[in-house]
Amino acid sequence: MNNNHESCSSFLEFEFKQNLLRGINEAGFKIPSPIQTQTIPLILGRHDIIAQAQTGTGKTAAFALPIIQNLKNNGEIEALIVTPTRELAMQISDEVYKLGKFCHTKTVSIYGGQSIQRQIELLKKRPQVIIATPGRLLDHLRNERLNQFNPNTVVLDESDEMLDMGFLEDIEEIFSYLPQNRQTLLFSATMPLPIKKLAQKILNNPKIVKISPSETTNSDISQRYYIINEYEREDAIIRLIDSEFPTKTIIFVRMKKEADVLSDCLCSKGYLAGALHGDMEQRERLQAIKNFKEGIIDILVATDVAARGLDISDVSHVFNYHIPLNPENYVHRIGRTGRAGKKGVAITLATPLEFKEIRRITENTRAKIELYEIPTIAQTLKTVHSNLIKTLLETEITDDALGIYEQLSNNFESTQLVCKLLSYILKESKVLGPNKIGLSQKDLKKFKDSIFNYQKEKHSKTHKPHKTKRANNVSKKHKTRNTS
Ligand code: ADP
Ligand code: MG
Repeated sequence: MNNNHESCSSFLEFEFKQNLLRGINEAGFKIPSPIQTQTIPLILGRHDIIAQAQTGTGKTAAFALPIIQNLKNNGEIEALIVTPTRELAMQISDEVYKLGKFCHTKTVSIYGGQSIQRQIELLKKRPQVIIATPGRLLDHLRNERLNQFNPNTVVLDESDEMLDMGFLEDIEEIFSYLPQNRQTLLFSATMPLPIKKLAQKILNNPKIVKISPSETTNSDISQRYYIINEYEREDAIIRLIDSEFPTKTIIFVRMKKEADVLSDCLCSKGYLAGALHGDMEQRERLQAIKNFKEGIIDILVATDVAARGLDISDVSHVFNYHIPLNPENYVHRIGRTGRAGKKGVAITLATPLEFKEIRRITENTRAKIELYEIPTIAQTLKTVHSNLIKTLLETEITDDALGIYEQLSNNFESTQLVCKLLSYILKESKVLGPNKIGLSQKDLKKFKDSIFNYQKEKHSKTHKPHKTKRANNVSKKHKTRNTS
């Protein structure tokens, strides 16, 4: 991970209970992110904290894990997590469920738009963790619908976002209902002044953790993404390999089994591929790496863990078969190419739904990842042909070739001979798969429009004076209230 701070090598260092470790393991988390490394011990030690780290750095698990670890399961609501939107509430609820599955952690989400009656019923089931948006939570608190509500840990998640949405007063009022002897955790991507002031009011002698953004990614690596449909991943990879002429390629996949399947599929189609993943024996892994280094295979299909720290020169292309789980992994994966001043290409496949992950990566790493379209068969053949011409121009004539030419020149005239040879070579360059891979033109246009609109919105948001923004947000807040 690109960070100034040392990161833990494993979740074992926090001495979590077995069932929590099981949840972490099933979630596929291998090593704690920097914000997790730094905040988890403090939270376990029951300190108040102010934690600042960019989006996508694993802040949710940073507070969820120690909260789950500290739960007493005594039939009370033990933790409250306040977050600005319903989507975030659901996302946090999913993450807590995922991590706390084997600890039987019960959560209830409370947000505007859902029936009050239904929420009251859910609350009767005595969840240990409540995840709430400010408006609806305050509504319950004011109307005394939360009895014996004394959470010992309170989290403000995405605090800057809550400020932007005009929730600051609500938050302060919420705290007037909370017990004094609580632990309070404030998480935010940025720390504007009003949030600092809020922190002074509600936190008690807080520890401050700040993780600075990852380094910008290597400019020798050209980064692209391709928008495809879910079922097209294999075809897309094959087409791109055919049109890119990689010297050495690493394809990153999420699961061990995927590595085997994709590697077998590529081999069956005539590519020199091999798998590298954690289920292979050490000896097999070393052999795969050796084969790759020596060019016995030129495509390595690998999982993140297996490829960690892999330093192989001449990797011209890195493919993300699926988007990596977090920006750190992205930086790590693409760093396998463009080494020692050489140029490299990093290609990511994404469905339209996964595009938000690309956006998260670009926002976090400040990487410039450009949208490309997958070439059709005709376009690929054109590249194949021009590459053949380029290769021919660079090829030196050998003695063997001269000898064969002597023999052949008695029977064929030169033009005929050259055309025969070219036809022979081109027989090998069949382009496999469907002609068009990726979204239809219509869907692609829709996709591009949606990115464009997002950027426009974002631009106008960042350029609006603070006052107007506030005014807008007040009306937004009222809207939320009305639907409550
Ligand atoms: P943030 O709140 O900082 O924006 P999230 O908590 O939403 O980030 O985490 C982003 C993604 O990374 C989530 O999908 C989460 O499951 C995943 N994640 C979090 N911690 C880890 C980890 N240690 N290893 C792998 N993935 C992780
Ligand atoms: Mg978050």
